[in-house]
Amino acid sequence: MLTPKYKRVMLKISGEALAGNNKVGIDTDTINGVCDKISEIYKLGVDVAIVVGGGNFWRGRSGKGMDRTTADHMGMLATVINSLALQDALESRNIPTRVQTAIEMRQIAEPYIRRKAVRHLEKRRIVIFACGTGNPYFSTDTTAALRAAEIDAEVILLAKKVDGVYDSDPNINPEAKKFDKLTYLDLLHKELGVMDSTAASLCKDNNIPIIVFGLDHPDNIIKVILGEEIGTSIR
Ligand code: UDP
Repeated sequence: MLTPKYKRVMLKISGEALAGNNKVGIDTDTINGVCDKISEIYKLGVDVAIVVGGGNFWRGRSGKGMDRTTADHMGMLATVINSLALQDALESRNIPTRVQTAIEMRQIAEPYIRRKAVRHLEKRRIVIFACGTGNPYFSTDTTAALRAAEIDAEVILLAKKVDGVYDSDPNINPEAKKFDKLTYLDLLHKELGVMDSTAASLCKDNNIPIIVFGLDHPDNIIKVILGEEIGTSIR
């Protein structure tokens, strides 16, 4: 029997990680692949909370000339689409889930209530937090940090397309160097583009470690959960 290192984790999945090669929308094979991996860690007995981004549909800052708050509301709605898609794919694997939204839309999902979210996790349901923080000018990385602190998650697993944090874009620069370990201050000062400064500060102030890893290799997420040092760890 494999023994997980963590009892409760916050998994942050970017919107793009659901889009496959198209980079936009949702690719069925890709989301099924992601949910197969989530299902493996769930079956190890780990409490799994998920925050999903919306960048595969819309990011507030891409709304050139638009009112920023309106553009961010659109981004938050995009996270709901992704959350429902994840819920559907996980439930088709017989994993009970709840979606909780930071902006009320009761016909679609529960409103975010921290105590309820914790109760769902205790009852072995995967909880997916949608609509980000519910506020414009924030990101879903910040949401992951905030909800991780609220539900006492031990770690944020930042699932990316690349297998860790590099000093430059490895898709462009073949000489790019990967960091095995970084500090929160490195994140804040080196502008590595892993997460925004609000999210990094929140993790720093609340001592929430972050592990950045690539979702493309099938075993990575299991390795991270078992405590193997892959990707980049930030603390
Ligand atoms: N967003 C927001 N407040 C939040 C979280 C997200 O306004 O608390 C909006 C923002 O416009 C953002 C979009 O939702 O660009 C999608 O989230 P994000 O860019 O973090 O998604 P990802 O890049 O992870 O796919």
